[in-house]
Amino acid sequence: MEKTYNVDENGYYGEFGGAYVPEILYATVEQLRSSYRDIIASEEFKTEFRSLLKDYAGRPSPLYFARRLSEHYGCRLYLKREDLNHTGAHKINNTIGQILLARKMGKTRIIAETGAGQHGVATATVCALMGMQCEIFMGATDVERQHTNVERMKMLGAKVNPVRTGNMTLSDACSEAIRDWCQHPSDTYYLVGSTMGPHPYPDLVARMQSVISEEIKWQLQEKEGRDYPDTLIACIGGGSNAAGTIYHYMDDERVKIVLAEAGGHGWQTDHTAATIHKGSTGILHGAKMLVMQNEDGQIEEAFTISAGLDYPGVGPMHCHMAKSGRTNVLSINDDEAIRAGYELTRMEGIIPAIESAHALAVLPKLEFRKDEVVVLTVSGRGDKDVETYLKNKSMAGEYGNF
Ligand SMILES: *Cc1c(COP(=O)(O)O)cnc(C)c1O
Repeated sequence: MEKTYNVDENGYYGEFGGAYVPEILYATVEQLRSSYRDIIASEEFKTEFRSLLKDYAGRPSPLYFARRLSEHYGCRLYLKREDLNHTGAHKINNTIGQILLARKMGKTRIIAETGAGQHGVATATVCALMGMQCEIFMGATDVERQHTNVERMKMLGAKVNPVRTGNMTLSDACSEAIRDWCQHPSDTYYLVGSTMGPHPYPDLVARMQSVISEEIKWQLQEKEGRDYPDTLIACIGGGSNAAGTIYHYMDDERVKIVLAEAGGHGWQTDHTAATIHKGSTGILHGAKMLVMQNEDGQIEEAFTISAGLDYPGVGPMHCHMAKSGRTNVLSINDDEAIRAGYELTRMEGIIPAIESAHALAVLPKLEFRKDEVVVLTVSGRGDKDVETYLKNKSMAGEYGNF
């Protein structure tokens, strides 16, 4: 099948993408661009990647038929359980893949940005696994808010650098990681955490995460006797778990794709992270994408209850697919996500990450046929979010009375 929604040879998805980097990084980005496809297509890489995904991360992640929720919403709902991976989310797929790539390229030092700390932990984890030096950039505000993850990273041997510029959150951490990369372009590998950054990162990360839809194909074949669903649902921050969920179905028009971005208090308010609804075209962290900005092009701060979706931009692949009408992107507000998180907890005994709860909150907004096969990716587990769930119990509707 022709991959029309995939990246073109110049690193663009329609008008979005590209590589807008300072001159000092040209050679480094070019080295990555010219070698990544050959390396990840090599038998040596594939063997080691598959073996670590299986024995270290615990893949394949189950495709679980959610019986009670299916009855409730009148469809055949399967949950893709990325929450069961080592370190508790889909992020480990990407960090395992990229650390193997970095090692193959002869890099000795790894840097990464993190917001909530999930990507920082997944990066520090694979650096410990490979015995590589690791430095994480994290906004000072997030260092305070996400204390446990900071301690996990330190315990794993990473150095955590608090970033005190701007709002001191994820966007500032990305800028600081790029600054560090400019100072150490030859020995340092920048391990980007989502489908963002300059080309080839969005494509590279999407390929690492594409194991999700690769598994969905054979798991559906086993369970439903056909290898595609009618509808796919995922949440989008930078877009990596969504990219992995849809990768093998991007150009399969039989499959509807519905994505959830974080509306915060509502996408028309000043407290939102719904970039596809609210953003306009701009350049952020090395790529052209939709960003939330004022008339002068100043980046606006993102707001959402979900630390992992708290970013004022969104990866170029998703900008293109949403603008072309291939994906239907819904803005999910904080209260809707909290209620959906409680609903999954009570109806299936699974506490999801608040990011993933945004995807679940899509269910009451759609109409299904009784035999419609729906696959929804639960990107991560909710252990890290228990306090937030409890603090916001009042938003949980009928599930909040306990
Ligand atoms: C980081 C994170 C996200 C958002 O990142 P994407 O790149 O959009 O997938 C979603 N869910 C969980 C559990 C996360 O940790």
